[in-house]
Amino acid sequence: MKPLPKFKYFKNPYVDGVFEAYESVCCCCGQRTEFSYEHSLGPFCPWCIETGSAANKFNIKFIEVSDCPIDVPQEVIDVLMRKTPAYSTWQGIKWNFHCKDACLFEGDLSVDEAKNPNWQAVAELMQKFGLKGGPDEWKDISDNYRVADPSIFKFSCLHCGSIFYKMDIP
Ligand SMILES: [Zn+2]
Ligand SMILES: [Zn+2]
Repeated sequence: MKPLPKFKYFKNPYVDGVFEAYESVCCCCGQRTEFSYEHSLGPFCPWCIETGSAANKFNIKFIEVSDCPIDVPQEVIDVLMRKTPAYSTWQGIKWNFHCKDACLFEGDLSVDEAKNPNWQAVAELMQKFGLKGGPDEWKDISDNYRVADPSIFKFSCLHCGSIFYKMDIP
C-alpha cells in the first residue's frame, strides 16, 4: 500500500476517526481505499482530499472558515477548506489561526495533558467562559475529564509553537 497522505493542518486524521479504517471505493477516483472519509456524496479516499481533486470535481468544501484573521493568506484558507478533512464537532468547526497561518489540529486533548496542561491555553479557554483559569477551576474539569467528554480540542501554531484549547459543547 502506498503511504497515506499527510495533511499540513491535521495531525492524525487516521486515528482521530476522520478517515475510518474500512475498505470502500472512492466516489472521486474510483479506486479502492482502506481508509474512507464519509461524505454525503459518498466515500472519499485520503488522496482525493489531499490533492484537492474531490473539492475540484464536485465543487465542495470540507471546512467552512469563518472569523479568520485578515492577515491569513487566501492560499491557507483554500488548503483548509478544500484539501483538509473536517473533524466531527457539535458546534461546527472553528479552526484556530496564529502567526498568519492556520494552526495544526491535534485532536482531542489527552487525559495526561489535561492533568498537566499548557496554562496559557487554559487561561484563554477559561476566559471565554468567564472564569479566571486558575489551577483550582481547571482541576474541576480535568478531574472528570475523559477524552471527548467534554470535547476539548487542541491546536498548535506551526510557527511559534503556541498551544490552544477549544471546548466543543453539544
Ligand atoms: Zn479517491
Ligand atoms: Zn504562532
